[in-house]
Amino acid sequence: MSRVVNFNAGPATLPLAALEHTRDELLEFEGTGMSILEHSHRGSAYMRVHEECKVLLRELLAIPDTHEVIFMGGGASTQFALIPMNLANGGSADYVDTGTWSAGAMGEANIVAKARLAGSGKDGEKYVRVPKQADLDLDPNAAYVHITSNNTVMGSQYHDYPDTGSVPLIADMSSDILWRPTDISKFGLIYAGAQKNLGPAGVTVVIIRKDLAAKSPKSIPKIFRYSTMVDKDSMANTVPTFPVYMIRNVLQWVKAQGGAAAMETRNRAKAKMLYDVLDSSDFYKLTIEKDSRSVMNPVFNLATEALEKKLVADASAAGFVGIKGHRSVGGLRISMYNAMEPENVAKFCEFLTGWTKQNS
Ligand SMILES: *Cc1c(COP(=O)(O)O)cnc(C)c1O
Repeated sequence: MSRVVNFNAGPATLPLAALEHTRDELLEFEGTGMSILEHSHRGSAYMRVHEECKVLLRELLAIPDTHEVIFMGGGASTQFALIPMNLANGGSADYVDTGTWSAGAMGEANIVAKARLAGSGKDGEKYVRVPKQADLDLDPNAAYVHITSNNTVMGSQYHDYPDTGSVPLIADMSSDILWRPTDISKFGLIYAGAQKNLGPAGVTVVIIRKDLAAKSPKSIPKIFRYSTMVDKDSMANTVPTFPVYMIRNVLQWVKAQGGAAAMETRNRAKAKMLYDVLDSSDFYKLTIEKDSRSVMNPVFNLATEALEKKLVADASAAGFVGIKGHRSVGGLRISMYNAMEPENVAKFCEFLTGWTKQNS
């Protein structure tokens, strides 16, 4: 077996221990005579996994009792639509535009409500920063304020979340949930497609304040209501059992590493290693302002597209895959979610330094 170093942005690398755990019990889950893949979502075997996954999320993120955890299908993109359907009630909601995904969320919201631009990192299409508090123009009557905490495509990240007063703050944390300890009480709703920092594709984790979940209007179909999902413990239809099981295995690994605080130390160390190399030479072009840089997805360019292509090819031949930037922006992107081992980032840094000597 030879596993490459996988810097893909999502679906992304998973902790080896979680994959091995899954492999070891794939054919028979805990003496039940069948795979977890084959169990009923309402049976006791799966229900134990479901509960354990929620308990681990609550514990690792210190989720307060004011908030519920639900698992939903449809990816983060479905939340772009469900959030305004459930919470804007045809009125106005504030959106901060920091790139591809936040613009996508805003576009969907504009179909069922009024998405008002409350701040932007756009500044001539460049998205080189996430706006600071003073740059925001918040409507005190907005239904909520929506941000994208980590901009997976642009390579920027909020390091301090905006203060939105009594207006609920909603964050798309698809690519950085659980990257560090987070004060969940500050948020009305957090959502994250699992395939970046939590597990495989196929399930989205939604953490929602109970009073907001209760607001789902009767004018939308039941299956689209947060209230239904909360009331039915995510079982309004067949919950994606295997993805939830995989998240549980990943969370067990996170816990064994020391939890969210340990993830932060590890993630900051990886980011420092790579940014130190990238900052050491003007061979690398970094456009994101330093205090908005993403710890999860550093993004950079080389002088020419041809050089970038060569780096992608040479890195792949050396066992480092997935470093090509998103097709919409080009360049290089090194995604380093929780599961990425620091020693693999160190190896990549060594490779990159040597490659640069040969190619500059
Ligand atoms: C990947 C990503 C999405 C899209 O997720 P899907 O599950 O494919 O819908 C949305 N937001 C962010 C921040 C992402 O990184």
